[in-house]
Amino acid sequence: MANLPKEIIELSDAFSSLPNVGPKLSARIALYLAVSAKDLAKKLSFSLEEVVNNISKCNICGNVTNEDICSICADDKRDKSIVLVIEDSLDLINIESAKEYKGVYHVLGGVISPINGIGPDDINMTSLIKRVEDPMVKEVILGLNPNLEGDSTCLYLKDQIDGVRDDISVTRLAKGIPVGGDLEYLSSQTIIDSMKSRINF
Ligand SMILES: [Zn+2]
Repeated sequence: MANLPKEIIELSDAFSSLPNVGPKLSARIALYLAVSAKDLAKKLSFSLEEVVNNISKCNICGNVTNEDICSICADDKRDKSIVLVIEDSLDLINIESAKEYKGVYHVLGGVISPINGIGPDDINMTSLIKRVEDPMVKEVILGLNPNLEGDSTCLYLKDQIDGVRDDISVTRLAKGIPVGGDLEYLSSQTIIDSMKSRINF
């Protein structure tokens, strides 16, 4: 690495900050882009700038959007009385592909994970509690993955929601989602089943 030009070292360092990319892979990608794939490098550079400049989080639900409010929150046909809480926008894409759910979402952008130093204030939770204060919201569905962090985040959320409303239904997706399973990868049918058989939490 020491003999490489500083531009490539800097690019490689940036790649190595990505999840699951080690120093060898990052150096290989940096070299590939710098030497063999300049057109792709230009395209990437343009796309990255577009994303940085134009993409933000929806002011209501935290979903990714290129407007102030995402297309789902802006849609009059969506049922605003049901809020499905999910970890990230990839879960949303998968649930939408099942074409079953007609409510709206709340994207946390993570789950509580003390081991990784992520607390309630590090995810999009305060805005959810504010949303729940609105009597229009009748049900909150907890659509977090069934693992240790997902479970403890659900418990924490339930506690917070109970603190602001006692007339709201809090449910959790259940049937068919295997323990340790990831919502992002579930089939449409599994999502539809788990939606229909949600349980009181
Ligand atoms: Zn939204």
